[in-house]
Amino acid sequence: MSVFTKIISGAIPSYKVAETDDFIAFLDINPNAKGHTLVVPKKEENKIFELSRDAYQKLMDFSYTVAKALEKAVPCKRVGMSVIGLEVPHVHVHLVPLNEMADIQFSQKVTLSKEEFVALAALIASKLE
Ligand code: AMP
Repeated sequence: MSVFTKIISGAIPSYKVAETDDFIAFLDINPNAKGHTLVVPKKEENKIFELSRDAYQKLMDFSYTVAKALEKAVPCKRVGMSVIGLEVPHVHVHLVPLNEMADIQFSQKVTLSKEEFVALAALIASKLE
């Protein structure tokens, strides 16, 4: 069972931004940049390009919704998107507010307090349409 499945089941906590029957979005615990959000299908599958075309398109559609809220909530030049999955083998889309190229490099990390994570998740959630 992946760490994200444990988050989805509520077994471990997360800073949740959005949720539907099929997807959840929460803040990355070790963010590249403030507002770095993960969009995750609840059904645990390993690789994004092993999803059905329909599941892939629904994931992109939900990522679009979350990215729009993120761009409104966190000042940035644009929201970037990456898919990696080398650390957690459960499909997820990284949405990262970008101001410079380094923000999308996964070697760069920022530190946030618990209070900052809580406030940020609530702010992004408030911008969802
Ligand atoms: P990757 O699988 O390489 O795409 O990276 C997995 C991402 O998940 C990393 O950016 C981690 O910081 C993030 N991550 C791992 N565990 C958690 C967690 N419990 N809550 C939020 N983000 C996590």
